[in-house]
Amino acid sequence: MKNFKLIILIASISFGCSQENISNKYAKSITSNELSELLYEFASDKFEGRETGEPGQKLAVNFIRDFYKSNDIKKADNTEDYFQELLIDIPGRMVTYPYSFPDSVRAFQINNKETKWVETENVAAIIEGSEFPEEYIVISAHLDHVGKRGEDIYNGADDDGSGSVALLELAQAFKLAKTEGNGPKRSIIFLHVTGEEKGLLGSEFYAMDPLYPLEKTIANLNVDMIGRTDPNRGYDNDRYIYLIGSDRLSSKLHETSEKVNTKTVDLQLDYTFNELDDPNNFYERSDHFNFAKNNIPVIFYFSGTHEDYHGIGDTPDKIRYDLLTERTKLIFYTAWEIANMDEKIEVDIN
Ligand SMILES: [Zn+2]
Repeated sequence: MKNFKLIILIASISFGCSQENISNKYAKSITSNELSELLYEFASDKFEGRETGEPGQKLAVNFIRDFYKSNDIKKADNTEDYFQELLIDIPGRMVTYPYSFPDSVRAFQINNKETKWVETENVAAIIEGSEFPEEYIVISAHLDHVGKRGEDIYNGADDDGSGSVALLELAQAFKLAKTEGNGPKRSIIFLHVTGEEKGLLGSEFYAMDPLYPLEKTIANLNVDMIGRTDPNRGYDNDRYIYLIGSDRLSSKLHETSEKVNTKTVDLQLDYTFNELDDPNNFYERSDHFNFAKNNIPVIFYFSGTHEDYHGIGDTPDKIRYDLLTERTKLIFYTAWEIANMDEKIEVDIN
């Protein structure tokens, strides 16, 4: 009996090590060069600040779709060529289905000076799980930004170009793993939401009309602004990331997130903005909140605001690509663990 236990112990230790070695190999495919190349394009003037419904936002969704296509990563089910179409009113109070909205009403609304309805789209791709394909992890980032004011283009390199390109690199790493027979056991959805800057409307719509059942969505990792440093922290300790929400619904998610970090990139996990009485209330200010409201455990990855937040200075040259790479790797390892662990993440906190 004793020996038997020992064998199991040895077997599980070596399995643990080899799982780690395997994930290391794919994490290495996430590189500073690739992130920077993608971001210099995605946050270039050509995309005109990616304002919801505007031509620059259409270029952004095409850019994302083309990336998935060229990497042979499948479109999510129930999308039209990777796109989930929706309508958003500007300035952004409502979200609805394009097909439930008669053209006459839409035209009337557009003529109304106060309200303009725009067609816009979430973009979604999937890597299907090998063992539990009907359990889903959603990794999200918002693709839109605030557009332009006159001649000034707000590039939104950090907000949320950084999260958008992180998702692309994550998807590519998981795809490589799958191609080599090491794909995730659970399915991973890469969800680029629109209308965030108008009031989290793309993710609100996704929660209204999910591409995959919310009951089977076991976690949401949301990435919004992970490419800079928070000047309030001082620059001597920049290997950090703020985590928000990880301990609100699932102790296992929180525990897993911490363990994975210690074993891998070992960033300082800063919970300052996770405090329940934090006046910034970031927990309710990005897209993960639409998942959390539906009782889905979330982690929000965020490196803080800075002097260029929602300003014309949020440009790709100011991104810390070394930190963006490390933070993206942390998300990769965390997703890898959640996707491959024997027992799935469960809600156990009210
Ligand atoms: Zn943002």
